[in-house]
Amino acid sequence: MPPYPPSESPSLLTLEQLRFDNRLVRELPADPVNENFRRQVIGACYSRVHPTQVRQPQLVAYAQEVASLVGLHPEECRTENFTQVFAGNRLLPGMEPHACCYGGHQFGHWAGQLGDGRAINLGEVCNQQGEHWTLQLKGAGPTPYSRTADGLAVLRSSVREFLCSEAMFHLGVPTTRALSLVLTGEQVQRDMFYTGNPQWEPGAVVCRVAPSFTRFGNFEIFSARNELDVLQQLVNFTLRADFPHLGEPGPATYIAWFEEICRTTAQMIAHWMRVGFVHGVMNTDNMSILGVTIDYGPYGWLEGFDPEWTPNTTDAQGRRYRFGNQPKVALWNLAQLANAIYPLINDVEPLQAALDIYRQEYQQTWQKDMANKLGLSEFVEQDNELVDELHRVLQLTETDMTIFYRRLAEVDLQLERDLCEASPEQLLTPLDEAFYQRPALETLQPLIDWLQQYRQRLIQDYIQHGTTDEQRRARMNAANPKYVLRNYLAQQAIDKATEGDFTEVENLLALLRNPYDEQPHNQHYFAKRPEWARHKAGCSMLSCSS
Ligand code: AMP
Ligand code: MG
Repeated sequence: MPPYPPSESPSLLTLEQLRFDNRLVRELPADPVNENFRRQVIGACYSRVHPTQVRQPQLVAYAQEVASLVGLHPEECRTENFTQVFAGNRLLPGMEPHACCYGGHQFGHWAGQLGDGRAINLGEVCNQQGEHWTLQLKGAGPTPYSRTADGLAVLRSSVREFLCSEAMFHLGVPTTRALSLVLTGEQVQRDMFYTGNPQWEPGAVVCRVAPSFTRFGNFEIFSARNELDVLQQLVNFTLRADFPHLGEPGPATYIAWFEEICRTTAQMIAHWMRVGFVHGVMNTDNMSILGVTIDYGPYGWLEGFDPEWTPNTTDAQGRRYRFGNQPKVALWNLAQLANAIYPLINDVEPLQAALDIYRQEYQQTWQKDMANKLGLSEFVEQDNELVDELHRVLQLTETDMTIFYRRLAEVDLQLERDLCEASPEQLLTPLDEAFYQRPALETLQPLIDWLQQYRQRLIQDYIQHGTTDEQRRARMNAANPKYVLRNYLAQQAIDKATEGDFTEVENLLALLRNPYDEQPHNQHYFAKRPEWARHKAGCSMLSCSS
């Protein structure tokens, strides 16, 4: 008998009742070596490896929606058993822990074998709807792919991964999910900015959840090593497991598959650009085959709108992964994947055509998103100019992207009058909060001009589509989040959690469940980055050290 009343949640199970169906382990070639030491793994997709035991696991937070998603009763998350399992100390019946082999292009260069260096898949839960969800521990100790590193993760990066995964999901951005965040009770040494100054930090483990964690790099490694039979096995497996709607694997399905990856990747990037998310390390090993955001490392959220901005100090020189470059980098990454699967297709043309699909899909999605962000019923040719000018104007003075768009909905553009009679001051009042320093009126003149242009466009939209001001606002507020995981907010939660107070992690998780809602009691989170956070580590500067 399950301990929870069946009437309440008939399909939710206890931990011991979860059913595992480990297709990847069953169907793909395994590394014959079972010892856990660092090595090149040839001819295999994964290695069996056990999580490392930790001293004193303590639950920091869990996401009840993710528990339900995999079919687990959320009450189970409060048990000691849950903490032990998701710290890596205990395996549930049916779990078959393993780490996957992949390679990748890092910062534009082929890096050879990388692999799950600190991620261990526990297995694929099959829920009552028949969906498969892979449970993956991040930071649960070394694997054959750990290279020179320790396989561990620290609390600060784990809080960031846990919160951002869930925040992105609730924003409507495709992403891996996070079930749990556990402190290990052990200390981990990190040199945060690679300055020869290592510090001890609390260790932590996040359990991530996704239909699969396969990356572009999983295919690249077999192509680079010319292990074409393994490449084909992995592609066929991926098609059957994650893309069953495309039909039986074969040359035609390979192309349809790549086209779909181009499309979903384009949609994901358009979402990032809509909400002001900068991934920070868009290496091909950090690109999911499912078009979901994966690997939350030195990511950041735009505060002042600036296409040149990157949160990643490791990328400060080249700024390859800056906000405005993300659409191009994704295309470059897709081209690497195309190269990797080419030997199975032997025809360049359809792969090139698929890359064009990426360009089109990205452009269409971006235009639709921009129309929604501005409250327009459609994006027309002339809107390119309107948006270009807006992007220029947003950079005249440091202007908070999130606050600007949200407040733009509130500017009274007096659409019902013949002439806009409002004074510049009146027009700008709702936008005041978006400026980091209130600039002189002449600096803002281009913005006032832009608002007039925008107003004309809205009038046109009203004439053509009957869009009222109320409809405009509703449309804008559904596209422009009010609350995002601002870098300094995450840091505040980290600082508290480091002192043993997990309430701010909870508060942010709750806040970010409804990022488009007004939430008047949470108004204080709708605030620009405070000055103290401008140059503070963790708030404006992050590195790959995590
Ligand atoms: P990233 O760019 O952070 O996604 O990581 C690139 C590669 O380094 C991946 O193969 C990771 O598994 C690996 N890696 C990162 N941090 C660690 C760590 N602390 N221990 C072992 N491997 C790591
Ligand atoms: Mg990675």
